[in-house]
Amino acid sequence: MDSGSYTEITRFGTWRCDPDLFGSRVTRVLDNVGTPPVFCAPQDIPCEPQARAASGLPVAEHQSDTIENLIYLREQFPFVPWLPVLQGWEPDQYLDHAFQYRCAGIDLTREPLVGVGSLCRRGAGQTSTVVRIIRSLRDLGITLHRFGVSQHVLARCPVELSSVDSLAWSRSARWHGRAMPGCAHPGSCTNCADFALRWHRRATSLVQPRHRSLRPLRQQRHGHAPSGVRAGRRQ
Ligand SMILES: [Zn+2]
Repeated sequence: MDSGSYTEITRFGTWRCDPDLFGSRVTRVLDNVGTPPVFCAPQDIPCEPQARAASGLPVAEHQSDTIENLIYLREQFPFVPWLPVLQGWEPDQYLDHAFQYRCAGIDLTREPLVGVGSLCRRGAGQTSTVVRIIRSLRDLGITLHRFGVSQHVLARCPVELSSVDSLAWSRSARWHGRAMPGCAHPGSCTNCADFALRWHRRATSLVQPRHRSLRPLRQQRHGHAPSGVRAGRRQ
């Protein structure tokens, strides 16, 4: 479950709700949904130029605030699977953030999954930088999750990703507003497992062959669609 931090920070410059309220809201969602998600992103602070312009703060403060928030949420809401998120803009800043986590008592190499923020709006001109960031973090032994990866990016990403997610998988279903032929459910395929699996098959076919072990994070019960895909790690 993503936290929507990019939208929150670029629009408002800061999180409008404090960690207690945020953690309570996430807890309520988990209670109502029942099946726990693989992870819940904390109130991380992205480091894109737009985010820094909105907050008026340097990368270092975005990074320290991100770690402080994770520690607080883990203390106050220990039953939530909070995801550590690495933030930065230049490649060295991500490595420095990993070191900051270690200094704060969090060994990212022991975490089942670690998010990498501030990557998905860089555009094609920064592909080599994104690759450098991912490779340098992976070489530290960190299992990486990348937020909001489109099928276009999946098709041209030359490095392995341990897991990715997509909010766009159901966009065409939402826009078309009608069900696929053969679907008996009412309304559109916005929350249709068959539609999601069709998207997943296409996404998998786009991944470069040496990385092609993507599988749904979870085949959810009750016909709900999976929310992302995960790739097996290279042996
Ligand atoms: Zn359907």
